[in-house]
Amino acid sequence: MSNFERNTAKAAQYLTPFQTSTTGHFIGGQFEVPENAKTYTNTTPVDQSELGQVVEGTAADVDRACEAAERAFADWRDVSGAERKKILHHFADKVVERAEEIALVESMDCGQAIRFMKAAAIRGAANFRFFADKAPEAANGMALYQDDHTNYTMRYPIGPVGIITPWNTPFMLSTWKIAPALAAGCTVVHKPAELTPLSAMLLAEIAKDAGLPDGVWNTVNGFGEVVGKRVTEHPAIKAVALVGESKTGSHIMRQGADTLKRVHFELGGKNPVIVFDDADFERALDAVVFMIYSLNGQRCTSSSRLLIQSGIRDEFIAALEQRVRNLRVGHPLDPQTEVGPLVHTGHFNKVMSYMDIAREDGATVAVGGERRNDLGDGNYVAPTLFTNADNSMRIAREEIFGPVLTSISFDSEQQAIELANDSEFGLAGYIWTENTGRAMRMARHVEAGMLWVNSENNRNLPSPFGGVKMSGIGRDGGDYSFDFYMETKNVCIAHGTHNVPVLGR
Ligand code: NAD
Repeated sequence: MSNFERNTAKAAQYLTPFQTSTTGHFIGGQFEVPENAKTYTNTTPVDQSELGQVVEGTAADVDRACEAAERAFADWRDVSGAERKKILHHFADKVVERAEEIALVESMDCGQAIRFMKAAAIRGAANFRFFADKAPEAANGMALYQDDHTNYTMRYPIGPVGIITPWNTPFMLSTWKIAPALAAGCTVVHKPAELTPLSAMLLAEIAKDAGLPDGVWNTVNGFGEVVGKRVTEHPAIKAVALVGESKTGSHIMRQGADTLKRVHFELGGKNPVIVFDDADFERALDAVVFMIYSLNGQRCTSSSRLLIQSGIRDEFIAALEQRVRNLRVGHPLDPQTEVGPLVHTGHFNKVMSYMDIAREDGATVAVGGERRNDLGDGNYVAPTLFTNADNSMRIAREEIFGPVLTSISFDSEQQAIELANDSEFGLAGYIWTENTGRAMRMARHVEAGMLWVNSENNRNLPSPFGGVKMSGIGRDGGDYSFDFYMETKNVCIAHGTHNVPVLGR
């Protein structure tokens, strides 16, 4: 039996529970399918076949989840950091035990290749371990001395929080947002993406299994406009963390205005990778290919705009074309596959529409530009490279979110900065040069929350993660996450030496 056949057999086994019973909610520690609930059909992008029925949550379902989270908060906020650390490590152990199941289910639900989803499941466990270890110090603050007073600060959890996640790497991203909230002492109402609900239910099962008290973790399935909206409006929810599109961030800001929600947004991007003439050619080429074609290009930090300096442009583009042609597109459970099917037909159609837009705007479709009809009914896009583009074209300005790269050439450092910054987004940027001074000048001037120099996407969990402009508000990672999920209180104590102003004596 090949590894592909073995993966397929195992995936069928792990998907059976979803196909034979309706996927509902997890509220107050109970898995439930509300009576007379409406459901929708969840399909796999591999061949459009059905993966099961999922409950379309209602505002009333969300209200019950928020109330459960509010009740549970009264106790969870006072559970010691050491105890939270133990429970969250236990959670991570269970993720590792079920990593194969998580990866296979995730691949079939969202179309990402198994080679990446295996790592994503393990990274989910790492997210929990990292924040578990930080839980005992979450409340720590600062001491600020004055001559006559001492101020000290402490942090405490803000309350129940709403966490709204997208479909591109649902398992990993959910753990990235939920682990710090729990470590901080918040309780959670999770709203997974409607297109990829399955791994969120595995997470809920693990939460129960790991001994999280009832109501600390709640999951409500359904659509953004109903379930997501109500989460952002409910008065018990004190903060909302969204990973999603920029326009969803705007909706949430409006929806949360009446209850003055604290918000944290990780949104879209059109990230430049800037390759100078003096770059390490082979390493830059590897990184450029990896950062747009891995994860099907459905990645917020994908380097979807290649800015290539004119001295090496022809040679670099020729090598790049060859590599893009070589990419192995196929079934996500095949260990050889590098690019799988796109998550959903609607998204596939959006990505495909840019092939015509590119031609109409005058760019060259150097590689790809079509559907892979040889691969059956799945949402398979041939990895695509646009050349001879300029920054005014829609393919250079809009987030396509597929295995599609737009390349633009530049002459000078100044021009590279102008092109990089001529974008409504500012999530990430990548700089390839052997000149350290230039790297530092670029890092200073490119408008983005994160810059990688001579690197693809190395992640360091204590480092801040997030974007500027339309790419987001706030930072995740290390202590930055606690600042979002917690309130800071200042206490000022007099030394008994200062003059208290006297009135009316
Ligand atoms: P999306 O914004 O359509 O959906 C994200 C989530 O928001 C879903 O759960 C959806 O149901 C919910 N939602 C939709 N409308 C809502 C509303 N009115 N109120 C409350 N919730 C609502 O995003 P998507 O298409 O699922 O994901 C792709 C997007 O996510 C891309 O733009 C990508 O760049 C972005 N993303 C960003 C990061 C980052 O870290 N910056 C990471 C991954 C993905």
